[in-house]
Amino acid sequence: MVDTHCHLDSIKDPTGDVVARARQAGITRLATVGMNGESIARALADAAEHDEVVAIVGRHPHHSEGFDEAGLEEIERAAEDRWARAIGETGLDHFRDRAPREDQRRAFEAQLDLARRTGLPVVIHTREAEDETFAILAERAAELTVILHCFSAPSRLDECVERGYLCSFAGNVTYKNATELQSAARDVPEELLLVETDSPYLAPMPMRGKPNEPANVSHTAEFLADLRGVRYDELDAVVEENARRVFRW
Ligand SMILES: [Zn+2]
Repeated sequence: MVDTHCHLDSIKDPTGDVVARARQAGITRLATVGMNGESIARALADAAEHDEVVAIVGRHPHHSEGFDEAGLEEIERAAEDRWARAIGETGLDHFRDRAPREDQRRAFEAQLDLARRTGLPVVIHTREAEDETFAILAERAAELTVILHCFSAPSRLDECVERGYLCSFAGNVTYKNATELQSAARDVPEELLLVETDSPYLAPMPMRGKPNEPANVSHTAEFLADLRGVRYDELDAVVEENARRVFRW
């Protein structure tokens, strides 16, 4: 099994321990996110040190205030690293609004263009900004491999399928009241299905409320297998193949 989105630098425990616990749980591949300068350096270092880990490099919408040419060059340099396998996470967050919306948009568009230039997939974060996010993607991401991290747009599933976006489900799909999200997770075609922890956030049942870590992606994957009426090993094979294709594992 794989965890296509985690934040190793935000998890308190030493990365070596976290990776070892993941391996014990059968999670052999992790993609960790670098969200700005220091975090990018850490993601690349973790990827260089651990065989299981690759890096997603970019500027998170929360950190996009004042995003400029130097910020873009930082990502462009990081993207040349052999362990950098995607650009992101980037997008729009109108829920927290930690950075001015103008800046979020500028950073988002620049990273989509960078993904095109580098041929890397792009990992999208969107919260309370779906209309704008999907409009920008329609305009600028037509030929890109798009991964919707912590998938949260069940009402747009048809549109996602039509556009070929990968839908990465996080622990919140296991929550009791997440019925729409669960329908989307059941219906998404298998070639677009991914699974992630977004750890240390969003721990799946039965770990909800505790700090999350990559080992827990197995709970989400078991839940998805049940939902889709397939065996765990079948779901495992599907997700591994999708992740291999997208992240060149
Ligand atoms: Zn994230």
